Amino acid sequence: MKIVVAGTGYVGLVTGACFAAKGHHVSCVDIDNKKVTLLKAGISPIFEPGLEELLVNNMKRLDFTTEYKEAYKDADIIFIGVGTPEKQDGSANLSYVYSVAEQIAESIEKDCVVVVKSTVPIGTNDKIEDLIKSRLVNDINVCVASNPEFLAQGTAVNDTLRPSRIVVGVEEPFAAEVLKMVYKDFNAPILVTNRKSAEMIKYASNDFLALKISFINEIANLCENIGADIEDVALGMGYDGRIGNRFLKAGIGYGGSCFPKDTKALHWLANFHDNELKTVKAAIDVNESQKLKLIKKSRKYFDSFNGLNVAILGLTFKPGTDDLREAPTLVNIPIMIEDGANIKAWDPVGVENFKKKFPDKITYCNTIEDTIKDSDVCFIFTEWDEVKDFNLLKYNELMKTPIVLDGRNCYDLISAKKAHIIYDSIGRETVNTFEVSLV
Ligand code: NAD
Repeated sequence: MKIVVAGTGYVGLVTGACFAAKGHHVSCVDIDNKKVTLLKAGISPIFEPGLEELLVNNMKRLDFTTEYKEAYKDADIIFIGVGTPEKQDGSANLSYVYSVAEQIAESIEKDCVVVVKSTVPIGTNDKIEDLIKSRLVNDINVCVASNPEFLAQGTAVNDTLRPSRIVVGVEEPFAAEVLKMVYKDFNAPILVTNRKSAEMIKYASNDFLALKISFINEIANLCENIGADIEDVALGMGYDGRIGNRFLKAGIGYGGSCFPKDTKALHWLANFHDNELKTVKAAIDVNESQKLKLIKKSRKYFDSFNGLNVAILGLTFKPGTDDLREAPTLVNIPIMIEDGANIKAWDPVGVENFKKKFPDKITYCNTIEDTIKDSDVCFIFTEWDEVKDFNLLKYNELMKTPIVLDGRNCYDLISAKKAHIIYDSIGRETVNTFEVSLV
């Protein structure tokens, strides 16, 4: 069976590599020449733990190309894993998906199953099938199946090799049989449903997780005001199996390439059908204001950033990835820069991507120590292990004023109290033992 994957981003590349690891031969197509050149040399263009190793170990079953016609013409199954970013109005931009569909139609020379892995609004698979059928150059059969992807960046390889479930949305049983063959060694439950339900499972899953995060963040904000501790509250809630303990971590909101756009896209679609989703709207609204929570907190300590030395720990939207899409730093740092802050920043893998957006207004440091040295305030935006394991005493030792604003609750309050710092985190009491150290 010849498998082709269109798109070598976080989803397409990981999918292709994992199929190869399970013994399939896979051609990966991308329009980005630079990516394909790197991949041919066994270098991953993205940071994803375990991915490069997987690519190198399975090179003999993987090839990479920009020549889509060659790749698609004799494929048995083509997975579409290209981006579906957000449009200005919140709806999903499907131009990349439709463009692949057109390329497939003009290239395929034999019967083929086209599988949509990209997250697409409900009803899009139907449109893709109509589009391909209307543009076919050769007299062949093609059917479209939905197979949404649930991987999370930072754990994408493991998530793909050991999925919680495989969702297959089909209108023809034959397509389900083909997909069951592809996934026969993945040892996961396979749910076969119709295409629209499969598309909806993806949005409903992501939007539910986003809602869980926004819910705990709202509770955290209330905890702060009334003297409860969100870490204990979340722990106590999480013991209840009906609630579960994951995605109950309070912080400065979700980011990344999925939750923000998938909440907005479903909300847009629901409104289009005159059926507003009030819970999804709430998740979006809470997240928007939560992103700026640390800036709001900082006003307790100073009116302006003008002339302040600001240390930033963590640039990416979460640990384990170099992806900056919708990272809270992208809205917070410009506010500080505009206000006249002198910024030093550290991130173990995100600096190169950040430099492309902010090449000169930030001093990038190689260590946390260099970043916080002589700073007036430190912002923690990403809970990297290096930050969590950092010796808290050093904030007092190295900073000019040891004000640490932690958007990810990296430290326990007892340690913070012993560190003689001002430590302001999310949904917990503010620790101020800095004065104590001066006595
Ligand atoms: P990405 O932006 O990282 O990668 C998309 C890739 O597609 C790029 O390399 C781009 O060059 C390529 N591309 C664009 N047009 C092409 C074409 N005509 N032919 C071949 N390649 C083409 O995107 P991603 O993060 O991998 O997301 C892909 C889809 O999967 C999206 O719909 C997303 O919502 C969904 N998804 C993403 C994640 C995630 O964590 N990133 C998880 C689950 C689902």
